[in-house]
Amino acid sequence: MPIPRRYSTDAIVLSRFDYGEADRILTLITPTGGKLKAIAKGIRRPTSRIGGSLEPFAELNVLLARGRTFDVVVQVSVGHAWLKLRDSLEGAATAWYLAELADRSLEEHRGAEPVYAILRRAYELLDAGMAPGRVARWYEMHLADELGVRPEVDRCVECDRILESTGRFRWVPPLGGVLCDRCPGPPHDRTGLTLDALKLLKAYQRQDVEALSGLRLAVATEREVESAMRDFIRNALERDARSLAFLDEIRTPEAAERALRHEASVAAREAAEARQAASDQAIGGRA
Ligand SMILES: [Zn+2]
Repeated sequence: MPIPRRYSTDAIVLSRFDYGEADRILTLITPTGGKLKAIAKGIRRPTSRIGGSLEPFAELNVLLARGRTFDVVVQVSVGHAWLKLRDSLEGAATAWYLAELADRSLEEHRGAEPVYAILRRAYELLDAGMAPGRVARWYEMHLADELGVRPEVDRCVECDRILESTGRFRWVPPLGGVLCDRCPGPPHDRTGLTLDALKLLKAYQRQDVEALSGLRLAVATEREVESAMRDFIRNALERDARSLAFLDEIRTPEAAERALRHEASVAAREAAEARQAASDQAIGGRA
């Protein structure tokens, strides 16, 4: 049997599930190796030395051994742990949603450097306290770009006319963006897009995050753009993100309280583990 080839890479955990007695299988995104699955053996045993560091919402450096089915995690150190991101339930739920979109956008073992970069940036922004909704919209818009489906917000997707601010607009994701009033298509009452929402969509394409986080916006406009971008991403990825249901649930007051009660102990434990991991810098594991 050949000696497994080991390699080291930066990585962010996109998802994970428990496997067997004490193992865990992780989906990682790496800058050059793209998305890959790795197994962390024995990670759920109390004696595991990699358990606390192999967490989501952190940029890790992972030493992996190539395996037949999955690469095997040998060693992990925490590069950046975005710990403040976990302080708000909406921040954490948004972070899971962004990870899920990355997961579903990528094929395994294809280079994913731009997606890695925008996910990393989005986590930094969440950690720095930017409103989760604005980080999510910024990320969705840039992810759409990377997937080659940049929404058209300047010209009509059918007749290519430049959209005038005096016109009426329809948002038609299957066509790739905004439809003008002159072109045939779905009725306005189902797909109408306000001028304010159109301007905000343009802002997400053109403005940097500092400008975006400083915008003063009506709640209704933000909601309209949220719905528009969700429809667009859903159409691009062909089905709803599972984590959206959770994100919606925690935003109703009763549900938020209920979820907080349930999640608080888990979140506190995970945050404590991550802090421990961050302070431990390089931690050896077992293959
Ligand atoms: Zn048109």
